Amino acid sequence: MWCWTTHTTGTGTDVSQRGIGVSQRDTDVHEVAREQMARSGRRYTANCRAVVDALGGAPQPLTVVEVLERATSVVQSSAYRSLALLERAGVVQRIVTTDDFARYELSQEISGHHHHMVCTECGNVADFELPEAFEDELDAVLREMARRGRFAPADHQLDVIGTCQDCPPG
Ligand SMILES: [Zn+2]
Ligand SMILES: [Zn+2]
Repeated sequence: MWCWTTHTTGTGTDVSQRGIGVSQRDTDVHEVAREQMARSGRRYTANCRAVVDALGGAPQPLTVVEVLERATSVVQSSAYRSLALLERAGVVQRIVTTDDFARYELSQEISGHHHHMVCTECGNVADFELPEAFEDELDAVLREMARRGRFAPADHQLDVIGTCQDCPPG
């Protein structure tokens, strides 16, 4: 389930259209991706489209292996290349985890603002959203901190690090 939310922390703007499923957004996702690729001087190829479909259809960020499982028309070398180009264009975001596998998801501009729970044992990453009221409060606190630090905030990232239910702590 996707949530179409953009936060602009700097100006306090918050545009939300909640509850719109991915199937209805399909065309828009590809249009946004195509525009972002064009801006970075790249063609939005069939491989890129397949990778975006794979990431968009997944409930959580994917490793390259998982992308290949979902985008069966794409060969491994093309998947790496497409992910790199999509990342450079800002369509795809790489998630930093504690394990050796890079994980990818559609940028939050496309998929909606959210946070991650990262398992330090198996590297699994799960998405979650905070209640809107808490996001507003968090933004307000961060804006104040940024003001004191003479810093212009654009966005925030907040990941929870720990162990998932398959990996008992200790
Ligand atoms: Zn785990
Ligand atoms: Zn947030």
